[in-house]
Amino acid sequence: MKKLILSASIVALIASCSSSKKATEADVNVDYAAKYAATITEKDLAKHLFIYASDEFEGRNTGEPGQKKAVAYLKNFYVEQGIASPLGGDDYFQEVPAKFLNKRNRRGTLKASENVVAFIKGSEKPDEIVVISAHLDHEGIKNGKIYNGADDDGSGTVAILEIAEAFQKAAKDGNGPKRSVLFLHVTGEEKGLLGSKYYVENPIFPIANTVVDLNIDMVGRIDDRHKDNRNFIYLIGADKLSTELHNLSEAMNSKYTNISLDYKYNDPKDPNRFYYRSDHYNFAKYNVPIIFYFNGTHEDYHQPTDTPDKINYDLLENRSRLVFHTAWEIANRDKRLVVDKPVTPPSR
Ligand SMILES: [Zn+2]
Repeated sequence: MKKLILSASIVALIASCSSSKKATEADVNVDYAAKYAATITEKDLAKHLFIYASDEFEGRNTGEPGQKKAVAYLKNFYVEQGIASPLGGDDYFQEVPAKFLNKRNRRGTLKASENVVAFIKGSEKPDEIVVISAHLDHEGIKNGKIYNGADDDGSGTVAILEIAEAFQKAAKDGNGPKRSVLFLHVTGEEKGLLGSKYYVENPIFPIANTVVDLNIDMVGRIDDRHKDNRNFIYLIGADKLSTELHNLSEAMNSKYTNISLDYKYNDPKDPNRFYYRSDHYNFAKYNVPIIFYFNGTHEDYHQPTDTPDKINYDLLENRSRLVFHTAWEIANRDKRLVVDKPVTPPSR
C-alpha cells in the first residue's frame, strides 16, 4: 500500500514538473484573468437566478423559511465546487443572532439568520483578504405577494457564485489568487444593512487585514437614464478612500469589459446618498476601500415584479466579469491597495 502511494506520488511529481514547465512557456501568451473570466457566462448566471429568485425561496425574508432555503442553496454550491468555508469543515454559516437583528427593531420580530461565507486561500499573502459581497435576503411575502428580488439582490448573489467558480478554477490549475478571497453573502440588508454590520463587528478575518470590499447590489437591469445606452453600470465609492482603487477599476474596465461607468451617484451632493445605502458602507466606515456596483432603480425596484425573466443576462455577465477582473487585479498585484484618504472610524 505504502509503496503504491509512493510511486503514485513520484508519478504525480513528474507530471507536475512537466506541466509547470509548460505553464511557464505558455505564460507569455496567456492572459489568465481573461481565461477564467470567460467561465462567467450568462447561461450559468441565468441557471442560478431562475432558482434563487423563484417562488420556492419565498422572497428570502430574513430569518424565514425561504431565506433558509436560499442559504442552503448557496452552501450546496460551494460544497459542490469544493470551495472551502473560512469557518472550517462543513459550516458555511456565520450565525447572526436574533438579539442583534432586533436591536433597532422595537417590535423584535426577526428570527436568527446567517451570513454565508466561502473562502479561497491566497498563495502568497493569505492574511490579506479581498472581500466580494452581496446581500442574500429580500423582502419576503407581503399581502400574499412574493417579492422575488431577482435584481435586488439575486443578481449580485449569482454574480458572486460565478466569480467564486472562476477563482476556484484558477486555483485548481495552480493559478490561484496571491491574496485570499472571501465570498460574503450577507443577510438582513433590507432590514438595515444588518448582516454586514454584524460581520464588521464580528469579522472572521481582522478588518485591518481586509484590503477591499467589492459589493454588488442590483446589476441585472437598466434604469430610465440608460434606455439608449444599456451597456453601463453605476460605480459608487471607488475613489472615496483609495485613489489607486478607482484608477485600477477604470484600467480593468478599459482592458477587458468596456462598460460605460457612470459616476452620477458617486457625487457626494447626490440626494439619493447611495454610498450609505448598501452593505459596503459598513466596511468603508472602517477605512476598507470599497466599490459599490449598481444599476440604479427601475419600475420593479422593491416590487413583486422584480422577477428573473426581466434580467439582462448579457449585461449581468459583463458586469460580473468587471468585478472579477477588479478582484483578480487587487488579489494579485505586488502591493496592497493604498488608502490615501482615510476617514475617522466610529469607536467600537
Ligand atoms: Zn439590495
